Amino acid sequence: MAAGSESASSGTPFDDLGIAVASREPLAPHTWLGIGGAAGYFCEPVDVDALARIARRCHERGISLRVVGGGSNILVSSAGYPGMVVRLSAPAFCTIAVEKPAITAGAGAKLVHVVSAAVQAGLAGLEMLVGIPGTVGGAVVGNAGSRGGDVGARVSAVTVMLADGTIEIRQGSALAFQSRWSNLDDVLVIACRFELDEESPDLLTKRMQKQWIVERSEQPSGTRAVAMMFKDPLGTTAESLIEQAGGRDMRVGAASVYGPHANYVVAGAGCLSDDVRGLVERVRSAVRDKLGVELTPLIEVW
Ligand SMILES: Cc1cc2nc3c(=O)[nH]c(=O)nc-3n(C[C@H](O)[C@H](O)[C@H](O)COP(=O)(O)OP(=O)(O)OC[C@H]3O[C@@H](n4cnc5c(N)ncnc54)[C@H](O)[C@@H]3O)c2cc1C
Repeated sequence: MAAGSESASSGTPFDDLGIAVASREPLAPHTWLGIGGAAGYFCEPVDVDALARIARRCHERGISLRVVGGGSNILVSSAGYPGMVVRLSAPAFCTIAVEKPAITAGAGAKLVHVVSAAVQAGLAGLEMLVGIPGTVGGAVVGNAGSRGGDVGARVSAVTVMLADGTIEIRQGSALAFQSRWSNLDDVLVIACRFELDEESPDLLTKRMQKQWIVERSEQPSGTRAVAMMFKDPLGTTAESLIEQAGGRDMRVGAASVYGPHANYVVAGAGCLSDDVRGLVERVRSAVRDKLGVELTPLIEVW
């Protein structure tokens, strides 16, 4: 559904808000894996005020609310998600403002666009994130990162919306980031400010291109129906543990481990959510049984 479209369904708890809300919106097209059921309600608010009205209504009626960003780290179950799913795709949520040596970006902006804007402006500190799919919101909430570092290290302030629609700016000790985790998992992220270092755009471009080549060579090619399965444990990688445990050739139904980089699952034709869940569990058990390491899933099941 396009942002601000007029295709609101009748008979929803949101009808009197004047905001287009769809019922039973299939979530598969909004995720990289491309599988799973529908959202009870779905909306692409045009601005912060519309988002606040949706959040307040959900809060009042006890309807759970989640944001889908780029959908690169979500596995939607076959039953779908019964609450409200919002997507911050409207231009109001996708702005990128360079204010040297900082950048402020809307939560709906693509991470790759923010990385490029930083590099072009000669601002260092985000270039190692090139190649990580998804949005600023998804990256900050999950503290996305690569071998070169995590996004959280550069976050200086985050504008969030609470369940009742109020806005807060979190900074300093109110922000906590750990490996693929932040303390922003119970709020809606609206925008984020990154504190960066000034550097030559030419050097930065070279560094970003190098990183881009590494990232792309590791990611599955030829399909978007993929997801990263596990967080890297301290001091090693999930990929190497899965290989050591013999997980490289594992499959469940139409879900299979991506051989060249064993921490990815690929959803083949006809794949079901349960296939992916089953494969993640099978791989996890193999690593636990053979190596005594408990892997933590990165992918989030809805
Ligand atoms: C090919 C591939 C390569 C990947 N490589 C990496 C990698 O190198 N490093 C890495 O860390 N990850 C990697 N990932 C995982 C994924 O890309 C990251 O976790 C990414 O940051 C998720 O962003 P997203 O916008 O797609 O979030 P989504 O998948 O849409 O959402 C993830 C979570 O964030 C929440 N969320 C999203 N936006 C908001 C918001 N505005 N407010 C509140 N909550 C929000 C969602 O509700 C959900 O809980 C990879 C995934 C794929 C498919």
